[in-house]
Parts: sequence; C-alpha cells; structure tokens
Amino acid sequence: MADPCYVVRCPQCSGFSVTRAKKVHRCPYCGQSITISDSTVIHVADDPRKARHLVSVLKGKRHGLH
Ligand SMILES: [Zn+2]
Repeated sequence: MADPCYVVRCPQCSGFSVTRAKKVHRCPYCGQSITISDSTVIHVADDPRKARHLVSVLKGKRHGLH
C-alpha cells in the first residue's frame, strides 16, 4: 500500500496543499513550516489524484466564500 497523501491547511495563510511528508510540510504559498498533525491535516487520501482534486474543490469553495 502506498504512503498516504495528506491534504493540509496552512495555519498562516489558510492555503491548501498536498503532501506525503510525515512530520513537517512547507507551505507552497507562504513558506510556512506546517507540522503534520490533527489540527493541520484535513483529509487523508490513498490516491494523490483524489487529494489534488479535493484541494481544487476546497480552493474553489474558499474563493466563493470571499
Ligand atoms: Zn501558507
């Protein structure tokens, strides 16, 4: 079984990104180090395509809300 993909939300800029990091992931938007934890991981996917799709959906929602 492949390593899980985490969909994480940056606590600094609220940007969503996908990572396979186990401990720390660097935000691609603001460079913040995001600790992989219950508070930052919003979804765990076994398929990176699903994870990226979810991120695109979340981005669309975020855009719609603002
Ligand atoms: Zn960020």
